Amino acid sequence: MSEKEFDVLIVGAGPAGAACAMTLGQTGLSVAVLDKAVFPRDKTCGDALSIDVINQLSILSPVLAASFAEFAQKTSVNSIRVFSPDRSYIDISIDIDGKYGQICKRFDFDNLLVQHVKQFPTIHLFENCSMQSIDQQSDRIILETSEGIFKGQILVGADGAYSVVSRHLGTIKTERKHYSAGLRVYYEGVSFLNIGHFIELHFLRELLPGYLWIFPLPDNKANVGLGMLSSIVSKKKINLRETLQRFLSTDPSLKERFKNARPLENVKGHGLPLGSKQRVISGARILLTGDAASLIDPLTGEGIGNAIRSGRIAGDHIKNCFSRRDFSAAFNTAYDREIYRRMGGELRLSTRLQQLCKHPKLMNFVVKKANRNAAAVFH
Ligand SMILES: Cc1cc2nc3c(=O)[nH]c(=O)nc-3n(C[C@H](O)[C@H](O)[C@H](O)COP(=O)(O)OP(=O)(O)OC[C@H]3O[C@@H](n4cnc5c(N)ncnc54)[C@H](O)[C@@H]3O)c2cc1C
Repeated sequence: MSEKEFDVLIVGAGPAGAACAMTLGQTGLSVAVLDKAVFPRDKTCGDALSIDVINQLSILSPVLAASFAEFAQKTSVNSIRVFSPDRSYIDISIDIDGKYGQICKRFDFDNLLVQHVKQFPTIHLFENCSMQSIDQQSDRIILETSEGIFKGQILVGADGAYSVVSRHLGTIKTERKHYSAGLRVYYEGVSFLNIGHFIELHFLRELLPGYLWIFPLPDNKANVGLGMLSSIVSKKKINLRETLQRFLSTDPSLKERFKNARPLENVKGHGLPLGSKQRVISGARILLTGDAASLIDPLTGEGIGNAIRSGRIAGDHIKNCFSRRDFSAAFNTAYDREIYRRMGGELRLSTRLQQLCKHPKLMNFVVKKANRNAAAVFH
């Protein structure tokens, strides 16, 4: 079996792993990025890139930000249309200094990141390379993968919602009240889709505090899906796929719009580990990032922004590990502190708002009241 040695091992080349690799790209450290997929690859997602994500692209690399700006297969959005359970709605502007959010298939977005990662001579990308087990020794980390043995000084778990690295570290227990289930289907021909630059969130009574979304994509296509707290799915014994199909075909405000629409794929599902609880996300020679560290916003289900941010913070922390020659669990607690210093406030606020969104009457009231005060409150 082949053996390779690097300074840093990153498992997962999604937004978290790619961001961490890019942050280490100019340091001279040798970095291996392993992914079981071959890019471009699909990732079940709403494909919504917030302005936070777009801003972080420039921090990672102006060249990358320019490639994304030039990339044509995306839709700009400057507001969110939020439907309350009684079907009244409010448009919330997300236009910050003329910057727009974007809807771009992860198939394309993640590939753009990975192609950029490949440009650094010290970063080595191994696709079709599945990590199987971790041997955490006192002086190094040894990974067994489908492509042989990889040795390194430090391991970054950027391997997503079903992270093998997180399971190995053993500090994050999957709890249904801190986890959501999500579904996605690409559609063609949904009516009234491109009448404005907005995305739609439908807070339907049965899904609260989750929602159904319709996000416009180029070429008359749409990303349609729903996300729901796993504790509620399990308590009410909800069949999510059936629920999605039922809403699209029977809900008074949706059925006409989907009458002539065509699904372009079978419904796909994926887990969302929410950041509604603070966790231990590092250990000796190990750091968790992105979904592996459970950093998804519990209100909106957005995780790409925090995946990139945590990848960047991990990269910066790793520079400190090498300059101090310290990879200990004690030293790595600085990584946990920095993650929650930078993201904790917003995650806590979203957790509180998520609790409020469980109450349909309150949501109806807020949307109606906000509508009355729309100019003052939101624009
Ligand atoms: C239905 C749904 C809708 C969502 N909608 C949005 C949205 O609209 N906007 C938003 O911001 N966020 C959204 N999210 C969350 C977002 O998808 C994640 O937060 C984001 O992908 C996290 O990035 P990551 O790099 O941590 O993990 P991922 O993007 O999952 O990347 C992990 C990578 O690790 C690789 N990998 C996994 N295991 C191994 C292994 N053993 N060996 C080697 N490689 C491995 C995988 O192939 C993958 O490429 C949604 C999630 C779901 C499920």
